[in-house]
Amino acid sequence: MNNDRGASEPLLCKIDAMHDEIVAMLQNLVRTPSITGDEAQIAKLVANFCRGLGLDVKIVEAESNRPNIIAHCDSGLPGPSLLLNDHLDIVPPGPLENWSHPPFAAEIADGRVYGRGTIDTKSGLTTILMATKAILEVGMPLRGTLTLVFSCDEEVGGEKGMQFLCKQGHIHADMAVVAEPTTMQVEIATKGRLNIEITTRGVATHGARPWLGHNAIEDMMEVIAGLRRLAQNLELRTHSLLGRATLSIGRIDGGTVPNMVPNKCVLGIDRRVLPTETPENAEAEIQALLDDLKARIPGFEASMRRIVWWPGYTLDEQDPIVNLTCRAFEKVMGKRPNVAGKDAGTDASWINVLSGIPVVMFSPGDGLKAMNADENVRIEDLIAATKVMAQIIHDALAKH
Ligand SMILES: [Zn+2]
Repeated sequence: MNNDRGASEPLLCKIDAMHDEIVAMLQNLVRTPSITGDEAQIAKLVANFCRGLGLDVKIVEAESNRPNIIAHCDSGLPGPSLLLNDHLDIVPPGPLENWSHPPFAAEIADGRVYGRGTIDTKSGLTTILMATKAILEVGMPLRGTLTLVFSCDEEVGGEKGMQFLCKQGHIHADMAVVAEPTTMQVEIATKGRLNIEITTRGVATHGARPWLGHNAIEDMMEVIAGLRRLAQNLELRTHSLLGRATLSIGRIDGGTVPNMVPNKCVLGIDRRVLPTETPENAEAEIQALLDDLKARIPGFEASMRRIVWWPGYTLDEQDPIVNLTCRAFEKVMGKRPNVAGKDAGTDASWINVLSGIPVVMFSPGDGLKAMNADENVRIEDLIAATKVMAQIIHDALAKH
């Protein structure tokens, strides 16, 4: 076993002793609903907790009442800087009849805590807060700087949250860990998310005389057929950590009434882009499809525009933060973690792409069930992930 294990033993014992407090923290966070746009109350709770630990807490807002929290713990000694991040906001609970445990009650059953955000991402938030508390209370001598960043607005792309913080120059560190749900894996890459809107335009006329008009919905059917062929081709384009590139049609809107030939149809597309692709190339492939249809169909008119670009990122598996996180995991769990990629976007992309910081993702929640009804996390995993997070802080910043 690694020599470091001895040094961190009191830390891991401390976290075992904090078991009930850790569960209570997660329950408290879940009972403070923070649907995107409504993060002020949970931010107050988290900021007060950080102040209670003696951290230097700064609130940064891109929009009034949409707080981002930056909490510093500066050891006063030279050394590396580690940034831990999670987001404060959650998605809405959806239809309540689908929940057997009310979404904001944080009920415990079968060794699990139930509620919206238990996976995405209040268990991650809990691991960061409690690991930091354990480190500070054990009185472990540190070097360098520990920075905790809790961002708003992540679920809709982070424009008021991490994107803003990075663009305004608030985010600095040598390495970072984002506590997004990874099912206890270490995740080191995300796909980029490109959302595109395509509009076909025709000529409206009476439905009884369709030959006098031009049907925008029928043109869109040709576009959809072409997109499905493109989606099939994308299955051949793969990445070792992220799987295949994808294209999904998520929205269609066209026509006014059945007895009128429609002059407009709008399609919304979700294209997941691998690190080996660019959004420009992905757009050019779709534009080529539209150009081909225009050449073949008289009167065909279509335009496309970019709605969302959320870049992906990828780290080398030999990057120091990947090694550090995997070793910390192994010390706590007694086995190597699975190293993987994530198909959904997270604040990790902004931290990496805008601020140039190597970043991994790690937390106990099951990412595949993140937005389901009856979202829940295993308490055993929550405690283990808190230990891993504390071990990461220890291995990055402990003064040996
Ligand atoms: Zn999340």
